[in-house]
Parts: sequence; structure tokens; C-alpha cells
Amino acid sequence: MGKIVLIIVDGMGDLPIKMLNNKTPLEYAYKPNITMLLRHAEYAYPSVLGKLAPQSDAGVMSDLGYDPLKYSTGRGWFECLGLGMEPREGDLSARVNFGEVNNGKLSSVRVYMSKEELRSLEDEINSKVKIPADFEFRVGEDYRAGLVIRGGKTRLSQYVSNNEPGYTAKFYQGGKKLSFASGFKDLKVKKIKAVRKEGDDTAKLLNLFVKEASRVIKGSGVYKERAKKKQQLPNYLFIRDAAVSDPKLPDINRLYGRRWYAVVGMPLEKGIAMSAGMKVADIHEEPLLIDDLSKKTDAVVSALRSFDCVYVHVKQTDSVSHLGKYTEKYAIIEAIDRILISRLSKSLEIDSGDTLVMTCDHSTSSELRRHINSNIPVLIVNRKFGRNNDFGESACKKNHIKQIKKATDIMPFVNKL
Ligand SMILES: [Zn+2]
Repeated sequence: MGKIVLIIVDGMGDLPIKMLNNKTPLEYAYKPNITMLLRHAEYAYPSVLGKLAPQSDAGVMSDLGYDPLKYSTGRGWFECLGLGMEPREGDLSARVNFGEVNNGKLSSVRVYMSKEELRSLEDEINSKVKIPADFEFRVGEDYRAGLVIRGGKTRLSQYVSNNEPGYTAKFYQGGKKLSFASGFKDLKVKKIKAVRKEGDDTAKLLNLFVKEASRVIKGSGVYKERAKKKQQLPNYLFIRDAAVSDPKLPDINRLYGRRWYAVVGMPLEKGIAMSAGMKVADIHEEPLLIDDLSKKTDAVVSALRSFDCVYVHVKQTDSVSHLGKYTEKYAIIEAIDRILISRLSKSLEIDSGDTLVMTCDHSTSSELRRHINSNIPVLIVNRKFGRNNDFGESACKKNHIKQIKKATDIMPFVNKL
């Protein structure tokens, strides 16, 4: 049985950009190592969630073969699990962003801070915020955090809205829940609302938490220092995708009959990999792209000695897309080619039956600076396939494996090769 490496490049898919000769960043990137692999390659061009623009949770679940509409109980579960907060059934776990709001209007949903600033705010919030429930607040990377409110006597509910504009929660049968990148209608920041009666108390509790935490942040040393330096000010918490139950993903090792390993640094991706039953590498995201890719490449190569499948995640492409930096986006893809793909093309034995899959969780338009509902480009390298050309969105659209209609079809197909 051959080995499989699944590379998920966050938000890699994009739209053609005039300044890039009407090519997408993936098409524009110089990628000689990928091109070498195209002597045995086929493409797929599946949709992730049809007309809705997915977040990474839905995208990653789909790429691994889990239908998000069947399993997702809210992204917060994975996010907090990946932060090491151990949410339990009945606890409420949510994703949090440090943001900036002025006069009730949104200035930013992402206030980037250093590790030290984030740690310091984490301590202040945990020690000074008072709400009528036990909670734990933990920071992640850049502007991200997780919140777990312990269930205890209060019955917590997932039927609450997000206060982050741009992400709308939708609810499905059996308590399933998923948010979509819905774009902004206006910049007014709204309170969290109960979507059903049973969410009333939870909405109140979350609004109280936001109010209290904002007060504590504004009194903090971090805030005062930033104000002095005229830096963007974190004065608000955006809470989204609150979950109260385990999504109970079927064990991936049993699902595909192969042993899986994950080389991922972001809490969401760690949480999904942990839920799926993968062994997860003990790594975190490195601030420098080259370090990050080198460390992940080493981890993938060494995991291939003892595991059948390795899932590796690269975050930076999505981050720069949200900032509108399409030249950085293709440069990151070039670095992936140069560092990760070049090593893998040597460690994987394609001629003996190993497979390499490179795709993304969703497309992110770097001109629109948001996730879009476009189908995703998928490269599958396997000895059964003949030569192919020009890996990118247009080539995938033109010429793709017909059986792979949805992203959830990728892995079942690859697993049978
Ligand atoms: Zn994104």
C-alpha cells in the first residue's frame, strides 16, 4: 500500500488578477517541482459547499472526507480542542477575535498582537472578568483566541448568533451548525442574539462576557502601551461559532484503513485532526515562512517512515489574501514548491505507488479580501496517471476527474488508487 501526503494550502484558490496577466496567484507562481510531478497527474475541481463561501472548518472537514453539514456542531469545538482547552459535552466553546470597534462601528475584526501582548491579555481576562459561570479564555496566534464556558448547572446552547459581522451562523437538523463568510452589509456591530428561545441565557452570558472583557482590556497595560504608540487598539471581542457538543467525527484511521498523522500548527486544524483521531505533531506556526515550511517539511518526511497518510497544512496563503497581498500569495506558493514539494518529490516514491495531493480548504479572493464560493483546484499525483500541464484553477476547470464533484469525494477516490 502506497503512502499518501495531503497538502492543504489555506485559501490557495483565487480569481484571475489583471496585474498577474489575468492569471491566479497559483497559476502565476513559478513552480518547477510541481511541474516535474505533472508527468503522472490528474486534476479535480470540486465544490466545497455549493453556493456558500466556506470557512476553513468546513473546507478541511470536506477535504478529509467528512461532510460538514452532517458533522459540524460549530467551529468553536475544534478551535478550543486545538488550543488544548479540552471542551466537554455541554460546555460552550467558541472562536474569539480581538477586534476594534469605534462608536458602535466596526474598525477591524483582526487586531494583530505579539505573543507577549496576547498572553498578558489572556491573564487579565481570566483573572478579572466576572460572569456567573466558570470559563477559560486562551489566546492563539496573532488576533485569535478561544473561549470555553463550563456547563455546570447552566444549560448552554449553540443557538446563538455570531457578533462578528461577515460570518453568519446557519443551523441544520440534529443540532448541526456551520458559519459562512457572508460579507458585510454594514459596519454596525450587533450583540449576540438567541436564534431559538433556548439560546436566551447563553446569549446574555456571552454579551456579558464581551462587555466585561472589553472593560478589562481597556484598563490593561497592553492597551495603554498601544494607545501611546498609536497602534490599532483591541477594544472588543468578536465571538463566533459557539458549539456545545462533540462533532464525533468517525475515526479516520478506520475510515480509510490507513494510519494518519497531521503536521498542522493552527488550533482549528489541530482540533479537526485530533477529532478525526490522527496523531498530531507537536509543532506551532513559525512567524517566518521559510522556517515554518522547513519545520513542517522535516515533520512530514519523518512521519512518512511510520505513518501511511500525512496531512500537512500551510496557513500563510489565506492570511495574505485577507490583506489583499496577491504578490505575496504567489511568492508563498513558490516557497511551498521550493521547500515542501521539492523534498517530497524525493521522499515519496511515486513510481512505487505513493500519492501526493495538493489542494485547499476554500478559495480566497485576494482582490475581494474574503473567502469565495469558487470550486477548488486539486492536484493528484499518482503513477496511474499520465502527463498533465499547468496546474491551476483554469486547467482544473477544463480537465478534471468527473467522479470528484464535491471536496468530500477527494479522499475516498485517492484512497482507492
Ligand atoms: Zn480565511
